[in-house]
Parts: sequence; structure tokens; C-alpha cells
Amino acid sequence: EERPAVLPEPVASAYDIAQQNREYTMFSWSVQGGALPPVMTGGRGSHFFDGDGHSWLDFSSQLINLNIGHQHPRMLEAIKKQVDTMCFAGPSFATEPRGKLGQKLAEVTGLAKTFFTLGGSEANENAIKIARLVTGRDKIITRYRSYHGATMGSMTASGDPRRWPVEPGVPGVVRVFDPYCYRCPFGKTPDSCGRECVSHIEEVIQMEGPDSIAAILVEGITGSNGLLVPPDDYYPKLRALCDRYGILLITDEVMSGFGRTGKWLATQHYGIKPDIVTCAKGLTSGYMPLGACIVSQPIADYFDTHMLWGGLTYSGHPVCCAAAVENLAIYEDEGLFENALELGAYLGQRLEAMKARYACVGDVRYKGLFSVLELVRDKGTKEPLAPFGGTSPEMGQLAAHLRNKHVYAYSRFNFLWVCPPLIITKAELDAGLAVYEEALALVDTLIAGGVAAD
Ligand code: PLP
Repeated sequence: EERPAVLPEPVASAYDIAQQNREYTMFSWSVQGGALPPVMTGGRGSHFFDGDGHSWLDFSSQLINLNIGHQHPRMLEAIKKQVDTMCFAGPSFATEPRGKLGQKLAEVTGLAKTFFTLGGSEANENAIKIARLVTGRDKIITRYRSYHGATMGSMTASGDPRRWPVEPGVPGVVRVFDPYCYRCPFGKTPDSCGRECVSHIEEVIQMEGPDSIAAILVEGITGSNGLLVPPDDYYPKLRALCDRYGILLITDEVMSGFGRTGKWLATQHYGIKPDIVTCAKGLTSGYMPLGACIVSQPIADYFDTHMLWGGLTYSGHPVCCAAAVENLAIYEDEGLFENALELGAYLGQRLEAMKARYACVGDVRYKGLFSVLELVRDKGTKEPLAPFGGTSPEMGQLAAHLRNKHVYAYSRFNFLWVCPPLIITKAELDAGLAVYEEALALVDTLIAGGVAAD
């Protein structure tokens, strides 16, 4: 179904809205006194509208969460219906949407029971706590190139530079290196490495004391640290390693789950089952705030006779759960995972062609509609276009070009993502990719020492 972008009237007071926001509210991950924030007034399908009346192609699904696109009519109806019936029930009450959603999540993940949170950070906090309660062990192994959230525990569990300002954070986190084949931390090539990225974890386990490690927490597929798609045998080997030492495997599917890669969970591409899955974002496609910590049968059984030391006023919020139930039904009824796989295969070809064509594209990685371009100054040396944790004038110009053409894209360090809503059409995908190609050509001119015409 085509969802044409309807251009709204400009908001007369867009400037006032931005000013008021800046004066009285605080924005995530930013210095507060900078440029005025952009104003958003609405959206439809793969597009959203700004305060000046421009229509933007959303190539980032907002924060890689709006999987069913903007203002899906079925979602609006389902939320309104639940609001009319019952807006709130305390977390100790059983409600219809909560039970329905729990059952559906058990079916699609192959796990047993869900503890509901309000987002991904809280889901990871609870996963860590549950792993510690169940195993009686303290330490959690996580990876360097990872992000697990912005609360104290989930931020400490993260590996990327966002954790630095809150260090030393929460005790007990031990970090290991990632399956990053383009820049293998062990200097190996994927076909002859013997998967040192897994054997290295075993060495760390032995050095830390196997009986002290509660869980290994990894992103299903690493998202905001450069979309690291693991080699096919990485997860089977990691699963076996966890089993060997009685360590729980927690996969954070907050970004990679719910159709982003064309399956319910990214790990389903690799034929393994984690002990705990955390999710949020694509669970409701962002229409209502909801996260989930889904546990295996043995963990669920443990809590039949042991206290679950935790709770949230809004755990199992009926409107959020009703939104999720409808969202999951939309995925199935509209064949959105199939669309993600089909258009994802096409997107993969387009990205490979860009890698062949543009000097600045060092590597491309993709699974479904979850993809990234890794940009370099020189393909031979692989020198990044911007340093890890930083930016560069070229990355700034690339982002500015996309903004000027009203393509909303996520870029960070030397990475540029393509993560459109799963409802996107081929024509919309082509339109956005054409602008990406202009931006890459611009970067090629810049790194060749030319002056950009842009
Ligand atoms: N885990 C991953 C993999 C994420 O990408 C994010 C957010 O981007 C989070 C956890 C945190 O989720 P939230 O922002 O909903 O707390």
C-alpha cells in the first residue's frame, strides 16, 4: 500500500515551540545551549513533517524504533480503544492486554515469561538483576562496542564512550572484544581466525573466575556502535561457552529485535536460544513506551519459589501492552518481516554497489532493514573518516547534505545507517538512497582534496 506524504501547513509558531522547548526542557545526549531543536508536527508512513511544513523521508525510523511507520491507523485505533476501556491498572493486577502480550512474546521468542518495563535501559537493568538473583553470581561480561542504555547499571554495562562520564559506575562489569571482522581486534581474517572473538571470552572467564560470572550480555546484532553482524558460527560457539560454565546468555534485542532484521529476534538467524532477551523499541514501534525482559522456563520456574526483587509502578501498563499486541499483529497481517527481508536483500545489493563505487565506503554491513556504511579516508589503510568517539568536517558535511535534502538519517563517528520503517516501499527506498549517493560523491570529492559544490 502506498502511503503518500501529505504536506501539512507550516506551524506559525515553530520558532516559539523550539524556544520554549529549549528554555524549559532538557534534551538527551546534547549540550543544552546549542542550536534550536528541530520541531516535528506529525507524520505519515515513512515520512514526518517539520515546523516549516517540510516532509522528511525517515531513513532512521526515528531512533530505529518506529518499525510500522508514522501514524499507522490500526495502532491509533487500538490505543484509543484501550484508553476508553481502562487507562491504568496497578502492576499487581492481571489485565487482558498484559496476558495476551505475555503469551504472544513466549510464542515468538520460544521463552517462557515476561517482566515488563518502560524501555530498553530498564529491561537491561532487570535482566542483570535477574541473572544475579538466579545464579547467585555477581559479574556480567559485556562487549566494548555496545550500548545497553542510560540508567546507571545499563550505562555501566555499555562499552561505548557514553559510559565514560559516569565511571566507575556499577561494580562487576567485565568487558571483552567484539566480532568486528572489518577491523578484527585480534588482527585476523574471518576465514582463518578460529573465532578468537569467542576463545578470548573463555580466557577472560577463566581469569575472572568462572563461578563469579552470572551472565554474558550482548546486543542481538550490535546497533549504535556500527552494526556488527557476527559470523554465522559466533552465536552457536557463544551459546556453548555459556553452557560450559553455567553462565546465562542475555541478548539485548532492543534495536535488532521485532522485524528490524526480518525476524522476531536477530539471534533467530543463528539458530540459538538465549536465556534472557531484552527488548523495547520495535515492541510497540514507539507508539507507547514499553520494554520487556523475557526469561526462559528454568528462570521463570526459579521465581515460582523465590521472590522477584523488583517492580515498577508502570510495569504491564495496559495501554502500552495493548499497543504492543496490535503492533505485533500488524507485523504479521501486513507481512512486514517479509518486506524487511525482500527489500533488505535489495538494499544489500545497493550498499555493495556503493562500496564498489565510492572511495569513502570502506565496508557495508546489513541484515534485513538494519544496515550501515562504514566510511574511511582510504580503503587501503582503512583510516576512519572520523575517529571512534568523535566527528570530522567531512562527516559534518555528509550529514548536512542529507538534512538539506530532508532525508532523516542516523550518523555517528564514521558510520552512516540505513534503517527505514519496515513499511517502506521500493520507490521510497530508492529516493533516499539516491540522496545517500549524492552525499557519498560529495565526501569522495572532499577527501580527494576538492572543493564541494554543495
Ligand atoms: N539497548 C540497545 C541495543 C539500544 O540501542 C538502546 C537504545 O538505543 C537501549 C538498550 C536503551 O533503550 P531505551 O533508550 O529505550 O532505554
